[in-house]
Amino acid sequence: MSYNRDKTITIVGCGGFIGSHLLERILDTTDFIVHGFDIDFRKINHLLGNERLDFHKTDMHDSSVFESVKKSGTVISLAALCNPSLYNTVPLEVIESNISGNLELLKACCDQKSRFIYFSTSEVYGRTVSSIAGEPGDSEKDLLREDSSPLIMGPVRVQRWSYAASKQIIERLIYAYGFEKGLDYTILRPFNFIGPRMDFIPGVDGEGIPRVLACFMDALLNNKPLKLVDGGVNRRCFTYIGDAIDAVMAVLGRPDDSRREIFNIGNPSNEITINDLACLMIKLYKEVRPEFSGKLYDIQKVSSVDFYGQGYEDSDRRLPDIRKACERLRWVPGTNLADSLRITIKAYVDQYGNRVSQK
Ligand code: UDP
Repeated sequence: MSYNRDKTITIVGCGGFIGSHLLERILDTTDFIVHGFDIDFRKINHLLGNERLDFHKTDMHDSSVFESVKKSGTVISLAALCNPSLYNTVPLEVIESNISGNLELLKACCDQKSRFIYFSTSEVYGRTVSSIAGEPGDSEKDLLREDSSPLIMGPVRVQRWSYAASKQIIERLIYAYGFEKGLDYTILRPFNFIGPRMDFIPGVDGEGIPRVLACFMDALLNNKPLKLVDGGVNRRCFTYIGDAIDAVMAVLGRPDDSRREIFNIGNPSNEITINDLACLMIKLYKEVRPEFSGKLYDIQKVSSVDFYGQGYEDSDRRLPDIRKACERLRWVPGTNLADSLRITIKAYVDQYGNRVSQK
């Protein structure tokens, strides 16, 4: 492979849900050469033969990552342990992997004058203002803004916030490196991306508790109750992965408009309570699999302690203000919730439908 630094990208964590879609899009629609790093390649198996992909099965501490940064004009970091059930069960691993790996990487980007694109999280907004006020406010008041909303975590003993706090410290380090040493960076805050290849089904290709979409798919595929944590009253804005990747491609293509900026990447029009999500997913699942249209699916309420264990706390509402992203990136998330869910449910059925029981 011949190297042109401006046409070479390093992606750390290219084998995860977001990474797999980003890698696919970059290889399909650009002429970039990609150095990809991940400890898992099951989601990118179909891309490994691409001659513009130089894939390394390794974690982000490996010296090959730093060799690759030297050759890359842009470095994208996606590597993280990002399942909420891990935050209060293996917090050390969550915090240390987030901080140490990314700190080394951003220092290398600073030294090599590479552009650093960092996937943070909407969790950095923490408990969210509407929960602190005690009651949900109107939409405008509850909008989370990149450059003015406070980032409020719960107490240290509530380890749910270990992930968000470690992401926040990396954001602050990136900002400081930009401020003091001229690091060229863009920070992205994803709001509940959904789509094919997200998460795992417990007992089939992973263990533990995945995110809510996969939990509900596990329930639907295995005819188990869909569980609503603490009543399922909290709200999320689910964002279709294709729309999210459009935003990342716009960041790549518009360096001047995205330099040293933080962007919320989310779809505020797709807001729904988890309770309503359960009902909608049952309806759409029956649409995708009409053979189960007469079946009754149970919805149960569970306490967060029973579901996640001690140390869990939730955000009640995560409503992104995306005006900055829309204006600077010329981006609009166009996929509505029902379509996003239909595509995701269908992908789960195609992938797991014959591998799990249907009694
Ligand atoms: N949740 C739920 N049932 C489940 C899994 C999750 O009610 O089987 C809730 C969880 O408590 C949270 C929301 O769904 O309020 C979204 O959780 P997820 O794990 O997808 O990620 P988060 O947005 O909290 O990072």
